[in-house]
Amino acid sequence: MTRICREVQANLPSYVEKSLPLLRRRLVSLHLRRCPDCQADFARQRHVSTGLSALSGPREEPPDGLLDSLLDQAAQPGMKGRVAVPARGAVSGARPALSVALLVAGAAAGTGIGYAGWTAARGVRRRIRR
Ligand SMILES: [Zn+2]
Repeated sequence: MTRICREVQANLPSYVEKSLPLLRRRLVSLHLRRCPDCQADFARQRHVSTGLSALSGPREEPPDGLLDSLLDQAAQPGMKGRVAVPARGAVSGARPALSVALLVAGAAAGTGIGYAGWTAARGVRRRIRR
């Protein structure tokens, strides 16, 4: 590997990202045309760069159906049972509704399904009033 090769390969990441100054860019592309070693490295760099941008691409939304399945799980009797069991002990306290609300808020914060917890809390409170 020549000194120029090292120089070129050091610039390849910027070259791949197209952030290299024009003159350097020209030199790198000229060298790439006649140096198989650097061509191979360039192909590798480009591969890594595409892989990384695919990984860091826009994926702000959770996968399709994840939210639905979470809400479904929360609506299952199991979840309501788990919320209601400790609540039964709290009912004997002075402020059952508040205890249940705090309990559900804690459970919701822990599981990250605030809405489902809130809905369950409404259900529990309705059951207590009856
Ligand atoms: Zn080279």
